[in-house]
Amino acid sequence: MPIRVLTPDTAAQIAAGEVVERPASVVKELVENSLDAGASQIVVEVSGGGLKLIRVVDDGVGIPTPEVETAFERHATSKLTSSADLERISTLGFRGEALPSIASVSDLELVTRAEGEQTGARVRLRGGALLKKEAVGRPRGTTVQVANLFQNVPARLKFVKSTSTENGRIGNLVTRYAMARPSVRFSLTIDGRKTLTTNGSGELREAVASVYGSEAAAAMLEISVAEDGLGQVHGLAGPPTLSRAQAGYVTLVLNGRWIQDRRLNYAVEEAYQNMLEVGRRPVAVLLIESPPEDVDVNVSPSKTEVRFRRDREMFSLVQRSVRQALVESSPVHSPTLTVHRSTSPVDNSSQRRPLGSDLLGWASGPRIPQDEPPSAPSMFTKSTLPLLRVVGQISNTYIVAEGPDGMYLVDQHAAHERALFERVLKEKAEQRIQVQGMLAPVTVDLTPVQRESLAQVGESLRAHGFDFQPFGDNAYVLRAVPAMLSGRAPDRAFLDILDSLIDPSIPYEREERSAASIACHSAIRAGDVLQKEMMEEVVRLLEQSESPHTCPHGRPTLVHLSSGLLEREFGRR
Ligand code: ADP
Ligand code: MG
Repeated sequence: MPIRVLTPDTAAQIAAGEVVERPASVVKELVENSLDAGASQIVVEVSGGGLKLIRVVDDGVGIPTPEVETAFERHATSKLTSSADLERISTLGFRGEALPSIASVSDLELVTRAEGEQTGARVRLRGGALLKKEAVGRPRGTTVQVANLFQNVPARLKFVKSTSTENGRIGNLVTRYAMARPSVRFSLTIDGRKTLTTNGSGELREAVASVYGSEAAAAMLEISVAEDGLGQVHGLAGPPTLSRAQAGYVTLVLNGRWIQDRRLNYAVEEAYQNMLEVGRRPVAVLLIESPPEDVDVNVSPSKTEVRFRRDREMFSLVQRSVRQALVESSPVHSPTLTVHRSTSPVDNSSQRRPLGSDLLGWASGPRIPQDEPPSAPSMFTKSTLPLLRVVGQISNTYIVAEGPDGMYLVDQHAAHERALFERVLKEKAEQRIQVQGMLAPVTVDLTPVQRESLAQVGESLRAHGFDFQPFGDNAYVLRAVPAMLSGRAPDRAFLDILDSLIDPSIPYEREERSAASIACHSAIRAGDVLQKEMMEEVVRLLEQSESPHTCPHGRPTLVHLSSGLLEREFGRR
């Protein structure tokens, strides 16, 4: 075939492919335009997975009538004047591609009125060509309605998934922006169903409540860290108890833009290390501010990827900000017991209130350190326990101890497990794992699933002190185990640990899972009767731990009943 220049609409459709990949990308571009227009309210309605109709209504600055057609020209934008502006972008859009791209693959209608204009304008386009322009009235702002998306691009239509998948993506997008911009009132209606509304109060916690529910939002911990010259991170992070089974609950917002960044996402996950139960993922919303000249947002047409000039520092800032919130506010677990008491002589209906809710972290909402200097402490801040005096044991499960401020109940298994977990990691890091060789090797039979699992985790187990060799078809001989396990039947411990490591879908760092499992199976158990010396040993080990307040799975190791609380509960104060 001879070389030919493509017709303008073919060229436009090709270019549109990059910007509007699917219905949710149309919603994204339109919502971003509304935000750039300074809207305080944005109403999104979609039907048919966005293929039938997408409508976005805002109360932003509007487009002056004479400029309306220009907005549909390729590379037409009011947001950049020179290439120097590219160095410091503060708007969400800047490429001038969205409106022409969307118009080229749909039937589009735009109605707008700018401040100070008597009437507004309405334009209709089909496949990118202007059909009609007329004067109309409307309050200040802009409405864009996109119908029959991709009907003229069968190739693209083929790749659009089911209505529910596309609805899910649209819901995800609007939800992220609703949290990214708490001062904007958002509403989303899908096929006539009100799916999301936020109040635009400017309070992140309220926006998050509209998305994840008020209970979750109330439990989330406040994040606030700044570093001179680099930027700052504000937001909310779920306490370890709020984790989810799937990824995707971390929302990263950079200078008001929802971004997807694997590294920063990882930084958040890292901050939760050893705090979440194996396989659980965090929930967090991080509003990151960085000088615009330190970020490149012009990486891809969809602008969801960014590059940071100081990416390593940014990684550590994000990680530290989350870690700090977790370390500061978690720890001593608040009892959720409730007490009944009559409030007055005449009214003897009993009133429930959480015991100690005013003293301890979460029941009363996160504690926000008000006068914390912006230079954050290192993420390895040790959260210390006071020295405790052991009083006794109850239910063969909890150690009762006294501290400088009241009483502590220590979960003997969780506490021991925490201490041993840290010991395993330390010995491993220092390459001095204690190994217990066996006088007579033991044979263990493995199921096919266990053999599969061993193929995955065998190296890690060897590194932690297990020594084993295949023996026949489905058996192994065990010659040594980590010394920590020496009180247990070696074959039983080996199989238990293997089973606990089986689930390959759990994206938890392998070494840590092995360490956690070895610690779990070495630790004293709930139900073990303990001598006083042993109780003292457990409490002493816990006092020396780096993170004494939770076990490696994120459960609390102890419950604190302060002197003040006891006094109040007994009516002494
Ligand atoms: P970009 O956002 O990259 O500038 P677009 O194609 O998305 O490019 O929009 C082109 C121009 O149209 C914008 O620069 C802006 O001036 C105007 N515009 C688009 N949507 C709106 C809106 N909702 N409110 C006000 N102006 C808008
Ligand atoms: Mg735009």
